[in-house]
Amino acid sequence: MSAPNPASSTSTEEAKKNSTDLAASLQELRQLSNQVFLTGGRGLAGDQDTSKDHSWLQHLQEQFGSVNSTIKDIEEATAQFQAQTNVLMIGNVDTDPQIESFQLYSDLAKNHRWFEKVNEYAVGASAFLGQNLLKRSYCNFKSRRKPLSTCHIAQPDHLTKMISGINKMFNDMKVTVSRPGGSMLNAVVEVHLDRILKTVIIFKGLMIEWVVVKGWKEDLLKPDGQVDIWGESRYQVFQRITENANAAMIHFLSPAYPELAVRSFMTYLHSFNSLFSDKCKQCNCHLQNNLPPTWREFRTLEPYHEDCRV
Ligand SMILES: [Zn+2]
Repeated sequence: MSAPNPASSTSTEEAKKNSTDLAASLQELRQLSNQVFLTGGRGLAGDQDTSKDHSWLQHLQEQFGSVNSTIKDIEEATAQFQAQTNVLMIGNVDTDPQIESFQLYSDLAKNHRWFEKVNEYAVGASAFLGQNLLKRSYCNFKSRRKPLSTCHIAQPDHLTKMISGINKMFNDMKVTVSRPGGSMLNAVVEVHLDRILKTVIIFKGLMIEWVVVKGWKEDLLKPDGQVDIWGESRYQVFQRITENANAAMIHFLSPAYPELAVRSFMTYLHSFNSLFSDKCKQCNCHLQNNLPPTWREFRTLEPYHEDCRV
């Protein structure tokens, strides 16, 4: 258990003392007020000695003076209460003689500590999530007041135009768009990269939602003619690339700059055009565990084996 804070315990003691003083002053005020009313009510009844008028009046004035003085004391004590922190006010709960309020102070203190921890964790979590590149939500944690990105509900023409621009980026990579069922929202984009690989990319608006990579001789269509978006390649090398491409897709995801994100991803995908001739940057070998370097460093697109990643 941590040592008590001397400053805190001093202020608590001071608060209790002030509270006791205030209660005594209030009691005194009640008594003095009663005396004033008693003296006033009794008056000069039954007393014929007019010489006592003066002394009665003087006595009443003295009692009024005492009442005023006590009221001033109470006002000063109250001002001290207000000047002190809320710890003081909570501390006073402890002095309440009501039995049902006995547990109140400890419950309040526990809740206070709990809220402090919640606040602390929330600040930490917010900072952590703000840096997290894996976030999939369309809104930014730091700027909820900004209008939300609409890239996930972009018009079909926008995507078609963007894909035709990507087609001009690389000669050995062919990209085609189709919209199964005439969907305005979702689109299936097929990428054929030379005689290396084929890829199915599912778009929602301008955002990539899913990627499947297969060998260039493998079918992207199911026997019923529909695009096979869930079936994986039968080759381990393309299964690995599918996993890595999905990681890359999340890495490049940027609701604020969707076109840049797609271009970055397509450039990443194109870097596999030398898949079977690349040497790993780490071990300088072609193969490791019978697999070529299937990992691409996102920034430089340098090839690495899965186990050679830095
Ligand atoms: Zn390696």
